[in-house]
Amino acid sequence: MKKALVVFSGGQDSSTCLYYALKNYDYVYTIGFAYGQRHSIEMKCRQEFIKALKNFDKELCKKLGPDRVVDMLSFKDLTDSALTKDSGSYELNDKNNLPTSFVPGRNLIFLSYAASYAYTIGADTIITGVGQADYSGYPDCRDETIKALEKALNLGMESNLKIETPLMFKDKAQTFKMAYDLGGRAFVDLIVRNTHTCYEGEHNVLHDWGYGCGICPSCLLRKKGYEEFKKLM
Ligand code: ZN
Repeated sequence: MKKALVVFSGGQDSSTCLYYALKNYDYVYTIGFAYGQRHSIEMKCRQEFIKALKNFDKELCKKLGPDRVVDMLSFKDLTDSALTKDSGSYELNDKNNLPTSFVPGRNLIFLSYAASYAYTIGADTIITGVGQADYSGYPDCRDETIKALEKALNLGMESNLKIETPLMFKDKAQTFKMAYDLGGRAFVDLIVRNTHTCYEGEHNVLHDWGYGCGICPSCLLRKKGYEEFKKLM
């Protein structure tokens, strides 16, 4: 039995990965992290997406196991990112040229927690939606980092865990296309309506590409990706 653990945040990328996992594995667990994100809407969307997915594909969701949320609120106190501060804009930090939304090492920490849980539940694959196509500014999302971490985790646990990254080289348009290939237009609509990516936590206005402020870096990327995806169709 092939068991996978999906690192699931409720955004477009990890939601697409969750459906991918259900299509490709025998049993699928999910894990999320409450690390003091500026907006709690993300955590709310996680639950709503899982609920909507269960309605969307009852049969496949029989393979969906329990969802776990790890409380990591203390993480916020250690970092100084625009994503975890109460205010602040999103731009490039002139000290390191990384976006101010960068939370140092976030994915390394999440994946280490996920690995420990995967080991415990007997899942041999962790699936994460990180990628380097759109987010090349985040060094903890790069392929080289993930491969090195996979090696370190396996050395440290004497295990044979795989970290699968289906979106590593996909941009947002290709991620929408992947959602389309997995579940057709109806699944793309589910992604559009039931996931949250906006850094500003804006979740009142529904655009054709989804909810969001439409001007933060995350919204701009998602909007651009959706428009490119539409041209592909
Ligand atoms: Zn936004």
